[in-house]
Amino acid sequence: MNETHKNENLGRFEHWTDGLAARIDSEETKAELAKWAAFQAKFHTYSAMNTWLIMLQRPGSTYVRGMRQWNKDFERMVKKGEKAIRILAPLIGERKTGQMLPNGQPETRKGCYGFRDVFVFDVSQTDGKPLPEVLKIDETGDTLKALIPTLEAYCVAQGFPVVYRKPENMPGGAHGLANGKETVCMEGLEANGTFKVIVHELAHNLSHFGANRAELTRERKEFEAELAAYLVGQYFGMNGNSSVNYLANWKATGTDLRKALGGVAKVAKGVIEAMLAKP
Ligand SMILES: [Zn+2]
Repeated sequence: MNETHKNENLGRFEHWTDGLAARIDSEETKAELAKWAAFQAKFHTYSAMNTWLIMLQRPGSTYVRGMRQWNKDFERMVKKGEKAIRILAPLIGERKTGQMLPNGQPETRKGCYGFRDVFVFDVSQTDGKPLPEVLKIDETGDTLKALIPTLEAYCVAQGFPVVYRKPENMPGGAHGLANGKETVCMEGLEANGTFKVIVHELAHNLSHFGANRAELTRERKEFEAELAAYLVGQYFGMNGNSSVNYLANWKATGTDLRKALGGVAKVAKGVIEAMLAKP
């Protein structure tokens, strides 16, 4: 690739980053985020024991509520044939301690005296009123399917081979992960989603496991990895909303993205050139 080509690419990267920044900063994205925050606020956090029970029975669960709550608060119904997740709710009450109070009344103490079964369902077991758009972070479509073998070969050449894992073996509902050794992607995504996850995780592996590891914030790393995936995706004609949503969930601003571009351009360029070099 000659100098002119290089500059052309950098110009395009800047243009696309500005476009993404504008979408992140738009009123529309802010409105979606507000809806998302309202959605989140309706979920209480479960105890460590119940979180464990949920993950044991239905790995990959994200939003868990009782059947009636899905109905009433979210206008969603549990799908026919779905199996409930059993968790435990403490029974709180007053019990006599066996001591007498000075006034002659028996002393009581509030406490947990047992547990009862509670049945809940994950959001994936329900359908009905759509969830906030900003929750959708997977790219859809199969237009980039033919490029995946080349991308996988590039990951091997860079020393971070792609490994596919079943959803139940992905921690905390993640769709990809990087560990400085492998580029891990969840099975079952559409081709364009797979492509984007791989570029995102490869960018983490290439940029975030060196000496600078401790210096960069988690947010900065996410902005860089997602921007790299976005730029490569744009180059090959992907233009879904997934990066906007992902970055909005990480509370990125347009300024954050423009700052991240410096570190990202090289990674994005490397992937694009490898893809183009394939006959
Ligand atoms: Zn990431």
